[in-house]
Amino acid sequence: SVRIRCCTAAGCASSGAEEIKDRLEQSIKDAGLDNTVEVCSVGCMKFCGRGPLVEIDIPGVLYQQVSGDQVEAIVDALKQNKAAESGATPLDREHPFFTLQQPIVLENSGKIDPERIEEYIAVGGYQNLYHVIHDMTPDEVVDEVTRSGLRGRGGGGYPTGLKWATVAKMPEGQKYVICNADEGDPGAFMDRSVLESDPHRIIEGMAIAAYAIGANHGYIYVRAEYPLAIKRLETAIKQAKRLGLMGSQIFDSPFDFKIDIRVGAGAFVCGEETALMQSIEGGRGNPRPRPPYPAQSGLWHSPTLINNVETFANIPAIVREGADWFASIGTEKSKGTKVFALTGKVRNTGLIEVPMGIPLREIVEKMGGGVPRGEVKAVQTGGPSGGCIPAHLFDTPVEYDSLIQLGTMMGSGGMIVMDTETSMVDVAQFYMEFCRGESCGKCIPCRAGTVQMYQMLTKILRGEATLIDLEQLERVCGMVKATSLCGLGQTAPNPVLSTLRYFREEYLELLKDSP
Ligand code: SF4
Repeated sequence: SVRIRCCTAAGCASSGAEEIKDRLEQSIKDAGLDNTVEVCSVGCMKFCGRGPLVEIDIPGVLYQQVSGDQVEAIVDALKQNKAAESGATPLDREHPFFTLQQPIVLENSGKIDPERIEEYIAVGGYQNLYHVIHDMTPDEVVDEVTRSGLRGRGGGGYPTGLKWATVAKMPEGQKYVICNADEGDPGAFMDRSVLESDPHRIIEGMAIAAYAIGANHGYIYVRAEYPLAIKRLETAIKQAKRLGLMGSQIFDSPFDFKIDIRVGAGAFVCGEETALMQSIEGGRGNPRPRPPYPAQSGLWHSPTLINNVETFANIPAIVREGADWFASIGTEKSKGTKVFALTGKVRNTGLIEVPMGIPLREIVEKMGGGVPRGEVKAVQTGGPSGGCIPAHLFDTPVEYDSLIQLGTMMGSGGMIVMDTETSMVDVAQFYMEFCRGESCGKCIPCRAGTVQMYQMLTKILRGEATLIDLEQLERVCGMVKATSLCGLGQTAPNPVLSTLRYFREEYLELLKDSP
């Protein structure tokens, strides 16, 4: 039968996707096609800026910005087995936005119904878990992940296999697996989309990790602002339990594993792993000094493996295709692909998954289509911990180490494009306001430093600052970076430092005693 796939992930849902789906169902019924045409709900189809998106597999057309009054034209054209020639606009699937993508994490996104476990199983889901439990020892699984070269997708880029090996080597006993889904960077929605589009993938990735390290209990820590992701995760966990894929005796083996969801209350700092664990334990989400690292003493002092959503989403594919396959994608030190949320002043906004090492220019100019007005000025990566890359450096390959050399970082995958109308001092102030609000207040450099840096940036923007103030701002940045307790404070100055590095003249122009 023909399938009409309607994206009902948060992006399209916010522009009325559920109503479009209902109208399509009614229209298909009225046309007497309901025996041969199925209207189904799927996850993110990536071109989020053009939603609601509707895809019909025969004759292979993806409609953009579908409105209620276009439904009849779509169904009429379907009757004739062709795309609508008027009344609804198809997207060009040959556009670089699609052709430059290499989906691994997003391979099922927009294709399967995330609320039906049968569809995940039909595309090979849970077979990797079965294979691991029956054909591999835990050490072999850790070795496979290590050889793949996968690095943590939450921002730090720590080698995933090394982290797994550290927890696996801890003495037998209570161990935990945590999926960090507390995505909080402004402009980032990669993890949300994965959870809304393919939740079973995360469950399978976590279960494989649990088998590898010897854990029997997992938590998914997801922010309360993602209600659809939470709902789909709850449904997925229930379905997996019902089929015996969770709980005691998975696949008739002694291995057992259960997952609980913990909903975060909106504090950005709870994305920091020690704060996240405190929050799961029922305490206030405050970071604590490391060591001890969670791998040695984590949740309730037990060895704990924490990876983010995208990291776990890579695991089923690595098991299925093998470490060598994964390691053949990307660059020498950054293997595989990376999912980015491409947003800002760019023409084509949405979710992209590209091989590591792709030049930034290909993403911004080819996939993103550049900016509608003026010229591209910079791209911000890494959220409040990252920095701005100016347009003249766009030939830089996108990988962990090259971005750090530019004074920014990969981060979890937010990528915000700015045009020549954007004030970079404004950008720095925006991120500092964010960090000031999200500082947990536990240590003085971050608690007081973010307030001071915000005040100095405001003074500069008002034209009331002098060169001495600017030097003072740089000194405070250095102090906060060097002395803050956790990553939030240590990286909060980065947006200021990177804009000072590449756009210093914009700061100088605003000074009273501009040189
Ligand atoms: Fe809290 Fe900031 Fe200190 Fe981290 S650096 S512990 S967020 S005050």
